[in-house]
Amino acid sequence: MGFSTDCIHAGQEPEPETGAVTVPIFQTSTYVQPELGRHKGYEYARTKNPTRSAVEANLAALERGKHGFCFASGMSATDTVFRLLSSGDHVIAGENMYGGSYRLFSKVLTRYGLEFDYVDTANIDAVRKAIRPNTKLVFLETPTNPMMTLTDIAACAEVAHAAGALVVVDNTFCSPYLQRPLELGADIVVHSTTKFLNGHSDSVGGVVILNSDEIAEKIGFLQNAVGAILSPFDSWLVLRGTKTLAVRMKRHEENGMAMANYISNHPKVKKIYYPGLADHPQHALAKKQMNGFGSMISFELGSHENAKKFLDRVRLCSLAESLGGVETLISHPETMTHASVPIEDRKRLGITPGLVRISVGIEDIEDLIADVENAFEEI
Ligand SMILES: *Cc1c(COP(=O)(O)O)cnc(C)c1O
Repeated sequence: MGFSTDCIHAGQEPEPETGAVTVPIFQTSTYVQPELGRHKGYEYARTKNPTRSAVEANLAALERGKHGFCFASGMSATDTVFRLLSSGDHVIAGENMYGGSYRLFSKVLTRYGLEFDYVDTANIDAVRKAIRPNTKLVFLETPTNPMMTLTDIAACAEVAHAAGALVVVDNTFCSPYLQRPLELGADIVVHSTTKFLNGHSDSVGGVVILNSDEIAEKIGFLQNAVGAILSPFDSWLVLRGTKTLAVRMKRHEENGMAMANYISNHPKVKKIYYPGLADHPQHALAKKQMNGFGSMISFELGSHENAKKFLDRVRLCSLAESLGGVETLISHPETMTHASVPIEDRKRLGITPGLVRISVGIEDIEDLIADVENAFEEI
């Protein structure tokens, strides 16, 4: 089936008892067993819940993957993937990624004996050089948050697979509407469903999607053994969210492009990072690897003072962390999402005091541009 059809139908048969079109919220912790040693596939709700099973099947179908596992947050999804590894294993991760992933790796997982190297994964040679005999996993985010740098997933997978390492892609920024890493050779996709997938800024969750039956069995075991599962209600919210994923993303995409064009021509803007612009250094790769350019844009205003004036003045755009909601969210990566990245790394990556990131929502673009225009006048 096509992507839009899958958004609405995959994993969601009408409920057999009543014919309810929408998968009900199975708000239960356990299931009665008709006799000792026999059950209907459900024993205890940490292990399995029908609402969660539906959203897991739905999200797996959208990524064109075979297996999906939902978690209480994007971070718990990523954490569970790393529990496939053992002390002494080596990981290559992108040097610029979501601040919370960096915090998990550097402050938590290193204490359990995992070794991390952070490299510019846009440079395939840098990935190749970082490979060690104990390299088990390459973790990518593309485009990166907030610098919008791309990694060639297929090329990276080739290098990693030659060394026997798994490739994991955090696809949160794109959603499967814009990019499907499994089709490009990645082994595992993770998402924060909190962002575009749920899309309405009213639920926190995560998902792991993959094709390998063998690894899926391990992830399923870990999901149950570690236990950071997505609740029935949040599962239902994400299911409701993905029904409109295709139409939302189309509009995000149109608004993102229009906003990028407006911002890139504004005299107060020193630099803009958006892969849809022809002068983005990886525009060609974006066209090849993605089915559009999304609605995440970062731009440089030159100083903390300018960024503050701008952010204090916007009205319609909400000053908030997070992204991918129907409403436009605007943030200051240096002091908000990326505060846990060491200052010298922030400087090197370009996460400056004047950098502003905008997640363009699906409001009327004229209203959004008027709001931004008004804020630029403050500078
Ligand atoms: C938000 C985000 C996460 C973390 O997800 P939570 O649901 O907040 O735990 C991970 N990766 C990226 C790219 C994100 O934007």
